[in-house]
Amino acid sequence: MFNLILFGPPGSGKGTQSDNIVAKYGLVHLSTGNLLREEIAQKTPLGIEAKSFMDKGQLVPDEVVIGMVDSYFEKHKNAVGFLFDGFPRTLAQAKALDSLLELKKNEIAAVLALEVSEEELVKRLLNRGITSGRSDDINEDVIRKRFAVYSNETKPVAEHYKKLKKYHSIKGEGTVQEIFNFICEAIDKKLNLM
Ligand code: ADP
Repeated sequence: MFNLILFGPPGSGKGTQSDNIVAKYGLVHLSTGNLLREEIAQKTPLGIEAKSFMDKGQLVPDEVVIGMVDSYFEKHKNAVGFLFDGFPRTLAQAKALDSLLELKKNEIAAVLALEVSEEELVKRLLNRGITSGRSDDINEDVIRKRFAVYSNETKPVAEHYKKLKKYHSIKGEGTVQEIFNFICEAIDKKLNLM
C-alpha cells in the first residue's frame, strides 16, 4: 500500500487537492471531516455528539475519530493505499494511525504539508462559508479558534513525522493546478524511491 497524509491548516486546500490526488493515483480518500459531516447529515448519535464540538471549532474526541477510521479501513480492505485528509490532527491520532497501519504491515509513505499564510486562510474560509453554508466557516471567531487548535494540538503531528523524516512542505498558494503540480512532483519522487 501507498499511504499519504495531506497536512495543513483549515482552508489550506486539502479537500480540493485530495480530489485531484485520488483521481490521479487511485488512492482511497479518507477525510474525517467529510465522514463526520455525513454522520451529522444522517443524525446518528456519533454525528449529534460531533456537531457540538465542530460548531465551536473544537476537535472531536480522539477515540471517536480513531474508531471511525478503523471502521473505514474494514470497509476498504482492498485499497491500494489511503489519502488521509484532516487526519491525524493530534499526536494521539498519529500514534493510533501508525499502529493501525503497522498491524497491516504498512506505514505512512509521506506527509505532504500545504503552507498558506493565515491572512489568505481566513479569506478562503469566509468565502467558503458564503458558498457552502458550512456552519464552522461563517463565524470569524470560530475560524480563529480552529487556527488556535491547529497550533496547539495539530502542529505536534508535524513534529512527529519530521522526526520520522516523512514530512515534506509544499507551497500552498498559487493556482489549484500549480499547487497540484508541486504535490505530484513530491509524490512521484517518493514512488520512484519505492
Ligand atoms: P477544516 O480543515 O477546514 O477545519 P475539516 O472538514 O477537516 O475542515 O474539519 C472540520 C471539523 O471537523 C474540525 O474543526 C473538527 O471539529 C472536526 N474534525 C475533522 N477531523 C477531525 C479529526 N481528525 N479529529 C478531531 N476532529 C476532527
